[in-house]
Formats: sequence, C-alpha cells, structure tokens
Amino acid sequence: MYTAFADSYPVRRDRLAQQMQSTANAAVRLKKDTSNLFRDRIDGQNQELSVRDFNHLLEIDIENQTLVSEGMNPYGELVDATLQYGFMPMVVPQLNTITIGGAVAGIGIESTSFKFGLPHETVTEMEVLLADGSIVNCTPSNEHADLYFGLPNSYGTLGYVLKLKTPALPVKQFVKLNHKLYRDTEEFFGVIAALRNSDIDFLDGSVFGRNEYYLTIGQFTDTAPFTSDYTYLDIYYKSIPEKETDYLTVKDYIWRWDTDWFWCSKNLYVQNGFMRRLVGKKRLNSRTYTKVMRWNSKWGITNFLNRMGGYHSESVIQDIDIPIENATEFLDFLLREIGVLPIWICPVGTSDKSDQFPLFPMNPNSTYINFGFWDSVKSRQKNPPGYLNRKIERKTADLGGIKSLYSDAYYEEDEFWTIYRSENYWALKERYDPNGKFLNLYEKSVLRK
Ligand SMILES: Cc1cc2nc3c(=O)[nH]c(=O)nc-3n(C[C@H](O)[C@H](O)[C@H](O)COP(=O)(O)OP(=O)(O)OC[C@H]3O[C@@H](n4cnc5c(N)ncnc54)[C@H](O)[C@@H]3O)c2cc1C
Repeated sequence: MYTAFADSYPVRRDRLAQQMQSTANAAVRLKKDTSNLFRDRIDGQNQELSVRDFNHLLEIDIENQTLVSEGMNPYGELVDATLQYGFMPMVVPQLNTITIGGAVAGIGIESTSFKFGLPHETVTEMEVLLADGSIVNCTPSNEHADLYFGLPNSYGTLGYVLKLKTPALPVKQFVKLNHKLYRDTEEFFGVIAALRNSDIDFLDGSVFGRNEYYLTIGQFTDTAPFTSDYTYLDIYYKSIPEKETDYLTVKDYIWRWDTDWFWCSKNLYVQNGFMRRLVGKKRLNSRTYTKVMRWNSKWGITNFLNRMGGYHSESVIQDIDIPIENATEFLDFLLREIGVLPIWICPVGTSDKSDQFPLFPMNPNSTYINFGFWDSVKSRQKNPPGYLNRKIERKTADLGGIKSLYSDAYYEEDEFWTIYRSENYWALKERYDPNGKFLNLYEKSVLRK
C-alpha cells in the first residue's frame, strides 16, 4: 500500500469547504491551470474557487488493485505516479491535462472503453464538495447514491469531486499494435462487435476517408523487438496506414494522441519537420495547443482571415456515442453531410450500471461507437449559427445516440431536458444545490454562461 499527501488532504479539503461556505450565492467556477472545455464562455460574474492543489495520488493498493486520487489530478501526473507501481487507471483519456474528476463530471473515453466503459463507470466511491460547503461521500449503494449516479455529465453544476476511488489496471512494459484496413463499414463495425468480448487490451479506429477505415488492436507485451517514438518528429496518426505492426512503451501508447492532439495540430502548422524543430519537443502537446486555440478564439484571428478570404466557418468539435447497430448510418451521414476528416472511432462496452446515470444514459445491452471529429468547416455560403452542429444533434437523437457536452451545443431547452432527463436533474439540484449557487446544466452547456 502506497500513501502520500493523504494526511494533508483533510486539511486542504476543509479549507476549501470553508471557502465555499463563505462564497456568496452566485455562480461559482473552478480555478485550475488547464481546462479541456471547448465552448467559449460568455463572461459572467463568476466567483473562482482555486483547486490547483487537489492534484495528488493519495493511495495505491497493490494487493487489491485500487487507487485513490484527488479530483483535480491531471491524468498526465496520475499515470506517471501509477506506472511506477505497474498500474494505470482503467480508462485514461488521451489528453494528459484532463483531470480524473473532470473526466467524471464531463465524460471521458479511451481505447479500453470497449471493455470497461467510460471513466465514471469505473469509479466506486467519490467525495464531493457541495454548494453549501458540506462534503458528502457517495457510492452506488449509500444514501448519496443519487449523486453518485447523477454527477457524471453534470459539469460542476451539482458539486465538485475532490477525491475518488477506482480500480487500477496492471500493465506490462510495452503495447503491440496491429493496424488493419477495412473498406466496408458493415465489415468494420462487425469486426468491432466481434472483438467486444475478446481478450485484447485496447481497441480504437481511425477513418481517413470513405472506404478507408483502420482498426487498431493493442496488446500488452513484456518484450518488444523495437519501439517507435511519436513524441517529436514522427507523427502517430500518420503511422497507422504505413505500419501494419508497431510497438510502443506503455507510457507512449497511453499518450500516443496527445503529441498531435490526435491530428488537430495540423491547424497550428506543426506537422512538418522544420516547424516541429522550431517549436521544440517540449511544446508539442495538447497543453500548448489548447492555449493557442483559446488565444485564437479570444482574438478571432482565424475567423477574421476566413472572412477576408470570403469564407464562413463553423466549429464542429464533437464526440458522439451511437449504438453500434446504427453506426454505419451515422458514419455515412458524417462523410456525406459534414465532411470532417479524419474521424476517431472508439467502441464503448456498456455495463449493467450504464442506464442509471441519468445525465448520460446509455442502453446497458448495447455496444456504442464513439465518433470524435474536431475541425472548423469552411463554406462560401453563410449558414445560420450552428447549422452543421444542429444537423448532428438531430441525427444523434434519431439514431438513439448521445452527445458529450464539452463543446458547442445548440439544443432548444425542452429538447435538451428530454435528452438529459430533467426530472432526475431537478431532483438532484433541489437536494444538493437548492439555492442555485452553481449554474444549471442548460445554462452552462448550451447558453455558455
Ligand atoms: C478537443 C477535445 C477533445 C477531447 N477529447 C477527449 C478524449 O479524447 N477523450 C476523453 O476522454 N475526453 C475528451 N474530451 C472531453 C474531456 O474529457 C472533458 O471535457 C472533461 O470534462 C475535461 O476535463 P478537465 O479536467 O479538463 O475539466 P475542465 O475542462 O476544467 O472542466 C470541464 C467541466 O467539468 C467541471 N469539472 C472539472 N473538474 C471537476 C470536478 N473535479 N468535479 C466536478 N466538476 C468538475 C468544470 O466545472 C467544467 O464545467 C475532449 C475535450 C475536448 C475539448
């Protein structure tokens, strides 16, 4: 059993709780070094609560294979700490600045999700700071089970996760990768469905164009004949069509998408050798790109250049989960009507608990496919705001899917609350934030307050 910072946790927690108590009844927001929230915020009168020092691994129990972490611990640091003991969290989102509490409150995913579901499904216990400054411990079966199930996808509108417990996954030193090309969508999704209960360790895919669908299977291994390095001059996603077999250290596998933000670093012109050398290895990561994108968004540089060139652009940055039986239709829709490429594919195996999370309900008998697509779409025609995003929202609803809320959402209020289960949400709000100290989920995720 390893414990660190555990002694000081109650002191820091109680100090934060006092701060929360003395905060007036107005919108509160977290103050921390990074964020992966992708909608721009309309400036409001928010009161900031600094949670920067809730970033420690508190405990790792090697015998029982569990870990306890503080909620604002970025996965980059959490993984460094757990790998030393031969473990990783069961589902590690690809961007290393995402925090473990953020992945629960805002939904995460990765290539172990076909086996273990989404990060919040793996959590067994959480300590949550409420609006009135009290702290509650919630588990799936105690008196705060409603909050345990209600917190995922609540985006800090019900309380803040300060500490959580989750199983830890034993790792080997390397991951062997096999990239395989499929030309037919039915076959592609059929193979994914068949692999759902196999003994492979990791599964994801990349769509580079119509009839160009790659599936990547990963297996832990103790030895490797060679290892590739995609942390500097070589780019991981470009290797997928080029190499049938590849080997990475387990750490490089976990962060394979971070160096180039999947493929989105192309928008920052850092995918050629000259620019990569100029920027330097240390700055090639999602932390840098997020800063640049926020700066760009603040000053409207890209929008200005587009307008000068006679273009209108719409940001289409979404992760959508669709039941696998409708995945072919959704992919066809994306290729035909949206046109963002590449598309990241990640299967999600739902668990028995999955439809009990009222703000992110999934059918426990289904496998889902997460489609991740992130770009700005340019056109000569001026469309109404959110034109493509609205189409995506409607198609998602038609196909029984569900959309993550970290980015832009354009739902009408009634429609939003039908999808994200208003009756459960307002009951939770009444019990845990009756005075509305936090914004509500619609205000935060659609109205961008
Ligand atoms: C471009 C992009 C790509 C993404 N790709 C992936 C991906 O590949 N895999 C993946 O798993 N996820 C992905 N995400 C989603 C990401 O996991 C969520 O947005 C997550 O909420 C970000 O966590 P964060 O720690 O950065 O939180 P922040 O961005 O700081 O906060 C997000 C929201 O959650 C709330 N929040 C944060 N921490 C807590 C807490 N401890 N308790 C309660 N509420 C909290 C905040 O108030 C805020 O409303 C992506 C997001 C973006 C923008």
